[in-house]
Amino acid sequence: MAVSEFQLIERYFTDAGVPRDDVVWGVGDDAAILSLPAGHELVVSTDTLVAGVHFFADVDPVSLGHKALAVNLSDLAAMGAQPAWVMLALTLPQVDEQWLCGFSQGFSSLACQHGVQLIGGDTTRGPLSITVQAMGFVKQGAAWRRDAATPGDLIYVTGTLGDAGLALQIRERRLPFVQHHCDELLRRLERPTPRNVEALALNGLVNAAIDLSDGLLSDLGPLSSAFNACQRDECNEQLSSELWQALPLSAGDDYELCFTIAAEKQDEVEQQLSQHGLIAHRIGVIDNGPGLRCVLSNGELYQAQQSGYEHFQGAPGVDEQVNER
Ligand code: ADP
Ligand code: MG
Repeated sequence: MAVSEFQLIERYFTDAGVPRDDVVWGVGDDAAILSLPAGHELVVSTDTLVAGVHFFADVDPVSLGHKALAVNLSDLAAMGAQPAWVMLALTLPQVDEQWLCGFSQGFSSLACQHGVQLIGGDTTRGPLSITVQAMGFVKQGAAWRRDAATPGDLIYVTGTLGDAGLALQIRERRLPFVQHHCDELLRRLERPTPRNVEALALNGLVNAAIDLSDGLLSDLGPLSSAFNACQRDECNEQLSSELWQALPLSAGDDYELCFTIAAEKQDEVEQQLSQHGLIAHRIGVIDNGPGLRCVLSNGELYQAQQSGYEHFQGAPGVDEQVNER
């Protein structure tokens, strides 16, 4: 390696993001030291992106740096947490300074937008893989748990769905849609917007939440104008009508937030969203029954072919794999 591991960390990953007062010690020692605000709980999440599984190996490094952080910030949003600190474990096949420069730029600029500081990590050589650990905090007992929805709660989803799924189809099948629609959809796939602003705006109003990384199934239709335009386009028969219907429901990678609120909070929630110029659609209601019933706009029940992305589908059981090692 022309650049040592130490120089690489120093050059690209020291002081990335925003310097925070609550970082007692960041990059440079065996571990970081953080001070958590009094009366708060630490919220921690980690996600890995592997080349060839989660992204195309030739993807623009700025986008990749953005996305590696975005998917983790999205998990903090889904817990209603204020993002604060991140760690980055990078496995690189070689040191490519141009690539590292782009990656750290994408990573750092999103970190700055959310007031987050990179406080450490690990750098190793091997097949390209990126693991980020994001940390934030919530007032004691105030985190949004996914199991906390109660019957009667209204279900909402932020933004629009299916854009990232459609972008994947466009890339894989080289679909000839209008260029600026393709660009808009690809941006949604490669540089998703984690919904932390929405999460913080809804502080105290939400009962339960999840982020939609693997696809939603429900009775909704929040579609973007680019998605609608592609569906209306004369080339829309390039995808089957079942697929057009399934993309917003089952495709992943949108990183929108799905949350529930008590029905009596509806006015307050919608006022809060519109005051901040934020978008969320009401898509359904929590009832007493088990499972999910998904009603189409024509009143028919929707039968899912595929309920969402599953990494180990068709592979040996996870336990079996672990035991084989
Ligand atoms: P150790 O041998 O103690 O694991 P390392 O040599 O791996 O230490 O890392 C030295 C310092 O650099 C540590 O503080 C670590 O957190 C930080 N670091 C290593 N890789 C990264 C990275 N990709 N991004 C941010 N900080 C990193
Ligand atoms: Mg290390």
